[in-house]
Amino acid sequence: MTRRHALAAIALLAAALPAGMARATTCPLTIEANDLMQFNTPRLMLGADCSEVELTLHHVGKQPAAVMGHNWVLVRSGDVAPVANAGLRAGRAQNFQPSGDARIIAATPLVGGGETTTVRFSTAALKSGESYAFFCSTPGHSVTMRGALAISAAAGQLAAQVPR
Ligand code: ZN
Repeated sequence: MTRRHALAAIALLAAALPAGMARATTCPLTIEANDLMQFNTPRLMLGADCSEVELTLHHVGKQPAAVMGHNWVLVRSGDVAPVANAGLRAGRAQNFQPSGDARIIAATPLVGGGETTTVRFSTAALKSGESYAFFCSTPGHSVTMRGALAISAAAGQLAAQVPR
């Protein structure tokens, strides 16, 4: 086979792959939380080609989890307040997250200062046109510790965080 024929065969093969057969793209996202009850960004952006997200929450403060524990909870925007209230009832032993709550798309456990936690989740449950929010479900924290998770319309864009 000539080089030109080989290239043509590869092009045909690539064209024959249905879009759904594209390989999984895991997009890393990182967010920081501090002792002042703040995340370091109000907005996280996902590329349209991200099939999976690996979110890392890093608590850059010094306070222990019992005093200034933070988590990262992803829900539809309208579910922030009800899920935060349900988390309050669930209590610290459950990381202030109601167990088995279908409204929670992804969540990390609570971490204290100097600690890091990671959660991996599929983007299959995320619909374009829907609005998603992340927040910390420690009681009182969602007032300041919240932001938007946006899905870019553009494929090929990797996850990025927008600085405050
Ligand atoms: Zn918090």
